[in-house]
Amino acid sequence: MEAKDDMIRGGQFIVTETKAEDVFTPEDFSDEQKMMRDSVKEFVDREIWPKKEEFEKKNYDLTEEIMRKAGELGFLGVAVPEEYDGLGMDFVSTMLVCDYISGATGSIATAFGAHTGIGTLPITLYGTEEQKKKYIPKLATGEWFGAYCLTEPDAGSDANSGKTKAVLTEDGKHYKISGQKMWISNAGFCDLFIVFARIEDDKNITGFIIEKDLDNGISLGEEEKKLGIHSSSTRQVFFSETKVPVDNILGERNGGFKIAMNALNVGRIKLAAACLDAQRRVIDSAVKYANDRVQFNTPIAKFGAIRSKLAEMATGVYTDEAASYRAAKNIEDRIHLRKEAGNSPQEAELKGVEEFAIECSILKVAVSEDAQDCTDEGIQIYGGMGFSADTPMESAWRDARISRIYEGTNEINRMLSVGMLMKKAMKGHIDFMGPAQAVADELTGIPSFDTPDYSELLSEEKAMLQKLKKIFLMVAGSAAQKFGAELEDHQQLLLASSDILIEIYMAESALLRAEKNAKKEGEDAQKVQIAMAKLRLYQAVEKINLKAKEGIISFAEGDEQKMMLMGLKRFTKYDNYPNIVELRNIIADKVTEDNTYNF
Ligand SMILES: Cc1cc2nc3c(=O)[nH]c(=O)nc-3n(C[C@H](O)[C@H](O)[C@H](O)COP(=O)(O)OP(=O)(O)OC[C@H]3O[C@@H](n4cnc5c(N)ncnc54)[C@H](O)[C@@H]3O)c2cc1C
Repeated sequence: MEAKDDMIRGGQFIVTETKAEDVFTPEDFSDEQKMMRDSVKEFVDREIWPKKEEFEKKNYDLTEEIMRKAGELGFLGVAVPEEYDGLGMDFVSTMLVCDYISGATGSIATAFGAHTGIGTLPITLYGTEEQKKKYIPKLATGEWFGAYCLTEPDAGSDANSGKTKAVLTEDGKHYKISGQKMWISNAGFCDLFIVFARIEDDKNITGFIIEKDLDNGISLGEEEKKLGIHSSSTRQVFFSETKVPVDNILGERNGGFKIAMNALNVGRIKLAAACLDAQRRVIDSAVKYANDRVQFNTPIAKFGAIRSKLAEMATGVYTDEAASYRAAKNIEDRIHLRKEAGNSPQEAELKGVEEFAIECSILKVAVSEDAQDCTDEGIQIYGGMGFSADTPMESAWRDARISRIYEGTNEINRMLSVGMLMKKAMKGHIDFMGPAQAVADELTGIPSFDTPDYSELLSEEKAMLQKLKKIFLMVAGSAAQKFGAELEDHQQLLLASSDILIEIYMAESALLRAEKNAKKEGEDAQKVQIAMAKLRLYQAVEKINLKAKEGIISFAEGDEQKMMLMGLKRFTKYDNYPNIVELRNIIADKVTEDNTYNF
C-alpha cells in the first residue's frame, strides 16, 4: 500500500518544511486523553510517589503489587485491542499512560515498559489468533506478567548472534529450548517469557512464547545488583531443554529478529515517553527546593546560576514532549490510514511504527539524554542534599542512567537513525539525494545578499532551521557519496551526522509547538514557549556547528573542505542573534513563579 501524498513519511522532516498546523502538540490532547492522563497521575501520586524510598530498598514485591493494581485499573491494557480485554486506545493515549506512569520511579517505568511493550506487544502483533486469545487477556489485565528474553551474555547489541538453541523433538510436537538469557526485566515475577532462540543453523533467531514453569527446565539467577531501578526485577534466565509446543512459535521460523526489532521500535518511542514525567517531577522538586533554600540571605532560585539551570531543564522537557507527541501522532495517523486501506490492526500498527523508526531512534536517544542532564542538574540545585539518598534527586539520577543503555544503546540508535534514513533514500521512499545535490550547487553558487524579511513570528528561526537541514544534507550527503555503502564503517562520521539529525528534529519540534500555540493564543500569551523554542534552536545551532565541523575536517580535504566550512559558517549565521540570558530569564521567571513545570 502506498502512502497518501500529503501524509508525511518517516524521516521526511529532514527534506521538507513542516507546517506548525500540521503537527500535534501536547496542547491538542482531547478531553478523553486528559482524563486518562489525570487518572494515571492520580494513581502515581497515591500509590507510587509516597513509596519512593521503599522502591530504593529492592522491594520487588512492591513493584509486582503496583503492577497488579495498574492492571486492575486497565493501565496495562491501553494498547491491547478490546477483543482481548484491553482498552484499545489510540497510539497517543498509550504514550500518555506510559509517560505519566513512569515518572515517580524507574523501577515501575521499567516493569511497565517490559511488560506492556516488549513482554506483551510481540504477541499482539505477531501471535496467532489462538495465542492471542490464550495469553493477551491475562497480560492486559495484569493477571499475568510478561518478560522479554533477547539478550545473552555474548549477544547484547549484536542481538541476532544469540546461542540459545531450539531443537525439534522426535515426535515433531515440541521444541526443546536450551540457553542462557541475561538482564531480563520482570524475570522474578513474570508468568510468561518471549524467548528468542535459533533453530538448527538458521540465519535468524525465532521467537517463542514460553510459560514460566520452573519444573520445565527453567531456572533463574539471583537478582542483579544494579546502579539504579532498584525494585525492578532483573535476572538471568536459564533454559535447559525446556519443552515448548510447536504451536508456541511466535510468527515464523527464522522471523524472530524482525519481531525483536519491530517490538523495539515501539519500545523506543515509549521509552522516550517514559523519560518525560520523571523530568517534570525533577523540575518540580528542584524549583521548590530552590525557592525555599536561602543562601547569602537570598533564595537560591534568584541566582542566575540556578535560574539558567531551571530554564534549560524546562526547555529540555518542553522540547521532548513536543517531539514525542509529534511523532506519536504521525504514527497514529499512519496506523489509521493503513487500517482504512484494509490492513489488519496488527499489520497497520507494525507498519505505522516501522515507518517512523527513524524518529523512534531519535527520540530514544534525545529524551534519555535530556533526562540524564535534567536529573544531574537537579542534584546540583540541591547541592549537598542532592547527593543524599534522603532527597528524590539521587535515585532519579541513578534511575535515569539505564535509559541510555537498554532498548538498543544510544550509540546503536544513533547509527540506526542515519542508516535507516540512507536506506529509505536508496529505496526512493524519500528524496534525499536531490536536495543534497541542491545544497552542493548552492555552495558553489553566489550567495544571496537580499535582506530577508523576518517580520513574521519565528520566521528567522524557521529560516535557520532550513539552513540546519542544509548542513545535514551537506555533511551526510557528501559522506554518503564519498563512502557509499562503506559509510557504516565510518562510525564517528555517522555519529556526528546523527547528532545533527537529532538536533534538527528536536529543535524543529519545539519551534513548531511554540508557533502553533502562539498562533492560537497570541504571541504575548506564549512568550515563554517562544523563549524555550528560541533557546532550544540556539543550542541546536551550536551543537550542529561543532559536529558538522568535526565531520567536515575529518573526511573532506582541500577545496572541498574549504567550501563546506564556508557553507557551515553561512548556514549557522543568525542575522539577529537571540539574547540567550534574556531567554533563560523569561523561562526561569515562569518556572520559579509557578513553583513547578507548568506547560
Ligand atoms: C537493567 C537492564 C534491564 C534490561 N532488560 C532487558 C530485557 O528485559 N530483555 C532483554 O532482552 N535485554 C535486556 N537488557 C539488555 C540490554 O538491552 C543490553 O544491555 C543492551 O542491548 C546492550 O547490550 P550489552 O549490555 O551486551 O552491551 P554491548 O553490546 O556489549 O555494548 C557495550 C558497548 O559497546 C557499544 N557497541 C556495541 N556494538 C557496537 C557497534 N556495532 N558499534 C559501536 N558501538 C557498539 C555499545 O553501544 C556499548 O556502549 C537489559 C539491560 C539492563 C542493564
